Amino acid sequence: MTTTIGAVAPDEGIHRSPVVAPVKFERGSIFHRTLRERVETYFRETGRKQRDCWQMYLKSVVVLLVLAGSYFGILMLGGAVLPTLLLAVVLGGSMALVGFNVQHDGGHRSYSTNRWINKCAALTLDMLGASSYVWARKHNSIHHSYTNITDHDDDIDVRPFGRLSPHQPRIKMHRVQHLYLWFLYGFLPVKWHFYDDFRNIAVGQIGCTKMPRPKGLDLAIFIGGKIFFFGMTFVLPMFFLPWWLVIASYGVATFVEGVGLSVVFQLAHCVEEAEFPMPTPETHRIENCWAVHQVETTVDFAPRSRVLAWLVGGLNCQVEHHLFPQICHIHYPAISKIVEDTCREFGLRYLSNPSLLAGISSHFRFLRQMGRPALTAA
Ligand SMILES: [Zn+2]
Repeated sequence: MTTTIGAVAPDEGIHRSPVVAPVKFERGSIFHRTLRERVETYFRETGRKQRDCWQMYLKSVVVLLVLAGSYFGILMLGGAVLPTLLLAVVLGGSMALVGFNVQHDGGHRSYSTNRWINKCAALTLDMLGASSYVWARKHNSIHHSYTNITDHDDDIDVRPFGRLSPHQPRIKMHRVQHLYLWFLYGFLPVKWHFYDDFRNIAVGQIGCTKMPRPKGLDLAIFIGGKIFFFGMTFVLPMFFLPWWLVIASYGVATFVEGVGLSVVFQLAHCVEEAEFPMPTPETHRIENCWAVHQVETTVDFAPRSRVLAWLVGGLNCQVEHHLFPQICHIHYPAISKIVEDTCREFGLRYLSNPSLLAGISSHFRFLRQMGRPALTAA
């Protein structure tokens, strides 16, 4: 489907995936222009600010306090096994909350109009052990541009363990991936901490897309972030807890974080309702404009749940997030009506699962379908 334009230099000794040619979209559509105008009108008429919302600052304080409280609580418990592990569950949940509610907006520059406030919010990811530099390329540049395009969107590539696109090859174990992938999601943070970031920087690539290696301040933040995280996670706790309880707490917290983060993101793109368009092989073009592509490949879940919206940083309204990633997430429920109405007017399917359970069920059925041989792409 895609053209290989670069491959591994045999003498370098590092395995790289073949680099694929960039995908192009059709030029901007009336749909996208109309949608942008209507959303701008909404902000003008209501007088609301797109960024720097007090609700965000308040929420950030709350989730960061829960994170700090559970971390230092673990150190203060003096090695009591069960309370420590229970607090590790809270710690893992709060790590996911910081990711959804602080880091994600900071990384998209939708937190504030001040670039340093955005930078500080984005840096919470380095505090949580993963590189904000790599994330900005993987998520902002790649995932948000080439959503659900096989061999471009690295988020749908969990090979060999899972098959998350009808255009990926199927192997025997995918037959039961709907049963085991949920468990493997829990190991995603460990993979980031110890493998993905280092590998991506070593090879200068994310999946099949080239990535410039960090230099200067970016490199200092990368190294400093890893030292800070490993120090706070493994070195400092050793003064308070037995070594095996430090490892067990790390395992429990990151497992909870990984399942939470993965499931929320999978419900937006890896569900039955989402499409997986491929570019035309000769032109590398997708037949739609970028905005229509986002609507076809992204699905909301429980869009009316205010509790869920608060917890997952508005990522239950991912259609709105993908169309307007630089608007603060607290506005997504309000603009979802504008997006839904405009989609309907332009004859586009607005994809949404009515509840969290409906989204989870759809992801389960999607995984089962992808594991079946009959649905292998021709
Ligand atoms: Zn995003």
